Amino acid sequence: MKTLFLPSGSAIPVLGQGTWYMGENPIQKKREIDALRLGMDLGITLIDTAEMYADGGAEEIVGQAILGRRAEAFLVSKVYPHNADRRGTQAACERSLRRLGSDYIDLYLLHWRGSVPLGETIEALESLKKAGKIRDFGVSNFDRNDMQEASGLPGAEQIAVNQVLYNLMRRGPEWDLLPWCRQRSVPVMAYSPLESGANEQRRMLHNPHLKEIARRHDASAAQIALSWLLRQEQVIVIPKAVDPAHVRENRASLDIVLTAQDLLELEQAFPAPLRSTPLDMR
Ligand code: NAP
Repeated sequence: MKTLFLPSGSAIPVLGQGTWYMGENPIQKKREIDALRLGMDLGITLIDTAEMYADGGAEEIVGQAILGRRAEAFLVSKVYPHNADRRGTQAACERSLRRLGSDYIDLYLLHWRGSVPLGETIEALESLKKAGKIRDFGVSNFDRNDMQEASGLPGAEQIAVNQVLYNLMRRGPEWDLLPWCRQRSVPVMAYSPLESGANEQRRMLHNPHLKEIARRHDASAAQIALSWLLRQEQVIVIPKAVDPAHVRENRASLDIVLTAQDLLELEQAFPAPLRSTPLDMR
């Protein structure tokens, strides 16, 4: 699996597996664990989760999926903003570790900005790192102003990634956030790369231009949408898939090489932003 480097020097895979909505329905549990294991078998060892997902249920699914293979996995989890004070961050991390069945998290993120002062959260994340409970920490749903503000705080040079909503239909981050992060070698993790909401996803994947490009590559529209993200510098992509056919397709999207003509057509079908727009969030 291709990797990028975090500011700490640790390698991070460019393709991962999301887990939002996993762990909610006991009937689906085995399917979800099997999907994550299949992904790992195919080399997609980065798994993204959060204490929020199914109230910890998704972390438990991840824990089951990595049983006996912790060393292979690169685990990302997230702390709720309302837990992100000095003591709350520590306690939330301990709970996540228990559910994950692991003694460390590779990358621990502040899920979004809340009312706890950012400096306090960074301090708390730093002490978790010093204690070896997390290897790296980062943020999520931070726009450029948030990143700028964070960068002035002690310890902020350790912010390893910013995880944001980014896909063909949501190109807002390209205006100023991606350039800002790239300049500082902070990778961006693109969440909802396939527009998870049913209507928006249909709008994206049924786009006739996208479908035509997919046809030329003997691929699916979803694979083209993922490969468009994967070809970008300093971008990590984390689609969630329970259907094993989707997991296989997503892995294979790494091998698709888009041509200049494909990129031109995608640009016309899904134009880049012409002005700054507020960061979208799910
Ligand atoms: P997504 O990955 O863009 O879309 C998931 C949906 O796409 C599922 O319905 C899945 O179906 C389907 N799918 C997956 N692969 C497919 C393929 N090859 N062809 C067609 N459909 C496919 O959306 P997401 O779950 O919102 O985002 C991904 C991950 O990002 C989340 O799971 C979560 O880990 C993270 N996330 C983070 C935040 C944040 O605030 N930081 C917010 C949202 C999401 P099946 O499951 O049936 O296979």
